[in-house]
Amino acid sequence: MKKMDEKCVSDLRDQFPLLQQLTALDEVFWVNPNIETFQSGIKKCTISEEDVRDAEKRLERFAPYIVSAFPDTKSTNGIIESPLVNIPSMKKSLESDYQKSLRGELLLKCDSHLPISGSIKARGGIYEVLKHAEKLALQHKLLTLEDDYSIFDSDRFRDFFSRYSIVVGSTGNLGLSIGIMSAKLGFNVTVHMSSDAKEWKKDLLRSKNVNVIEYEADYSKAVEEGRKQAAVDPSCYFVDDENSKDLFLGYSVAASRLDKQLKELKITVDENHPLFVYLPCGVGGGPGGVAFGLKLMFRDHVHCFFAEPTHSPSMLLGLMTGLHDQISVQEIGIDNKTDADGLAVGRPSKFAGKIIEPFLSGSYTVSDNHLYKLLKQLADTEDIYLEPSALAGMIGPIKLHQSGMEYLQKHNLKEKLTNGTHIIWATGGNMVPSNIKEEYYKKGEL
Ligand SMILES: *Cc1c(COP(=O)(O)O)cnc(C)c1O
Repeated sequence: MKKMDEKCVSDLRDQFPLLQQLTALDEVFWVNPNIETFQSGIKKCTISEEDVRDAEKRLERFAPYIVSAFPDTKSTNGIIESPLVNIPSMKKSLESDYQKSLRGELLLKCDSHLPISGSIKARGGIYEVLKHAEKLALQHKLLTLEDDYSIFDSDRFRDFFSRYSIVVGSTGNLGLSIGIMSAKLGFNVTVHMSSDAKEWKKDLLRSKNVNVIEYEADYSKAVEEGRKQAAVDPSCYFVDDENSKDLFLGYSVAASRLDKQLKELKITVDENHPLFVYLPCGVGGGPGGVAFGLKLMFRDHVHCFFAEPTHSPSMLLGLMTGLHDQISVQEIGIDNKTDADGLAVGRPSKFAGKIIEPFLSGSYTVSDNHLYKLLKQLADTEDIYLEPSALAGMIGPIKLHQSGMEYLQKHNLKEKLTNGTHIIWATGGNMVPSNIKEEYYKKGEL
């Protein structure tokens, strides 16, 4: 990777005054000047609606296997999906804290409670492993597309997959999802974990016979080492969180599921009923995939915002400067050290940032203290416990009301806000052990 020299960085500082605030670790709100209408944005796009449909169909084919291998998905017939819930007490509490009346409904999308791996990574991560498994099984004539995929839950398939391995680099949750799914299918699986990864996540993986390799360095290093390991072994498949189209597509399937849930709640999304979605962002694949799916579904009626820790604003930096993966937060003097382990990424995805650029409304940052405070507040008001990363979206509606007036005005949304809906994407937390939940909660009291 080419390093930024000091001259480049100082030129960037002249060009983008917001960099000063980013480096000072202030919370910022950034509106994307490159947003386009859906119609014009989609023309440049290298992935299409058909790609998303194809991913949906693949997940449907695998549903009988998922039910068989993970019985707690029985209630959804093997479809890995999370609840969408109203959080009226949290809304009141936010309104009183920030002295703002929040116009529109406030809902929480509980990917924290996705089955199998308890985070948004149960979408993309599991999808990519299933796709790889299907490809191998088809190539070796163990499977046809018409088969009942519950045959994957058999010794014959597990023996077959034991000849192959899967490798991934992760800050924790992607490792959990890839590790659990791959091991269940019978693959050898190795997870390269960054220094941010929590002990309990590593312990859980080891208990499932996953090889866990730990690094003192951050996420980018863990990914690099994973990539190296896979490069020397043809039977080894590398899940490339920095560039993977399959991960992205797995995440994007969320949109059609959400559409159904909104209809069940009798919530309209159209010209006069805007939808605002706030997505915690690490390397960008998860929030990027979900936002892309939502744009396909709701076009210009949905407004997506990314949320990052003040110590890891990598996607905001990449988008604002247009440099994407050619710049890291470290190069502008930020340390990438945050308790929001799922978001501790210093250099953004090139793939996700470029695809989402014409579609994203904006992005903001939030401090770790703020995340803990919101964590406690959500537990107190709604009895829902999340991990710190997953709270990054929670402050989005407040930020929009405080700093997004220009955006709302420009898109003719000010009057429509009252009829609108805000969805906070809660990206993880259900698998956090109870003693650690308690620790998190206590940090919110300080
Ligand atoms: C990974 C993760 C995200 C962000 O996904 P990226 O693809 O890294 O942008 C958000 N929240 C949690 C809890 C995560 O684990």
